[in-house]
Amino acid sequence: MTHPEVNPAGDLGPLPEGEALPVSTDEKQLDELHKTVLVAEDNVVNQRLVTLLLEQLGLRAHVVENGLQAVEAVFMHDYPIVLMDCHMPEMDGFTATKMIREREAHLGRHIPIIAVTASAMVGDRERCIAAGMDDYISKPIDRESLKNKLTLWMDREFTLVLEDMAVHATPAFYERDPLNLRELEMFYGTKQLAGVLHLFLEAGRKQIEELDSGIAEQKQEPVQRIAHELKGASASLGAKEMSLLCLQLEQLAGLREWNQAMKTFDSVTHCFATIDHFVTVHFQQPASSSNRKSQ
Ligand code: MN
Repeated sequence: MTHPEVNPAGDLGPLPEGEALPVSTDEKQLDELHKTVLVAEDNVVNQRLVTLLLEQLGLRAHVVENGLQAVEAVFMHDYPIVLMDCHMPEMDGFTATKMIREREAHLGRHIPIIAVTASAMVGDRERCIAAGMDDYISKPIDRESLKNKLTLWMDREFTLVLEDMAVHATPAFYERDPLNLRELEMFYGTKQLAGVLHLFLEAGRKQIEELDSGIAEQKQEPVQRIAHELKGASASLGAKEMSLLCLQLEQLAGLREWNQAMKTFDSVTHCFATIDHFVTVHFQQPASSSNRKSQ
């Protein structure tokens, strides 16, 4: 409990587990705290992406990975706002929000909570509002929408704090490549993107291994869960084919269609290898020598 547990982008170290930020009247620290958004999100790639987006808006992220940690953190620090993923292990965003609202009722306060919903999840938005969330935003998060929601709920104007990236409202994704690296690069910045992709590939390799043994042993729960995670991370990076294949795999595991799941898993593996190769080649070349069109 020595330093503010703010997760800087690019730090691949362990996530803070809801330790207390030191209570201090130091104005600089208070200012930092008021710029620190609590982000509850279980997917490591999404954690990094939302951290980068917040940094582009001059804010910081304190990332926790489940609802229980979010509840603890909310009552330990004075965050101006919470971005809450709906589906997380241990405790989901709906339950966490209900707990926060119940405890707040005794304290007479109300922290704005914005739900982060996967747009495909029908009924999530209604559940968010019913649980006591104030607003919602769709995944993958678009920077303009995030900026608008933060402006609305934090009662502050946000301008982009851009350094080495071009001003793009949202990355445009194309079907042709497994990932549109050019667009992602302009949106997040080269160095930042390299960090996110490293994380995606590293986590992905492990997830593919786990899927392999899970399918071989016909274990429904881990296969569904891991396919779901990989799907979410892929979707956030605009890797559409990968995301769709993972969705298929998730559904097949749900139906216990193991023969079909094995075939789909082969496609997942192939698609992942393509992305891996594509990313490796891209970052080996200097940007100027890349001959891919950016139309
Ligand atoms: Mn989640």
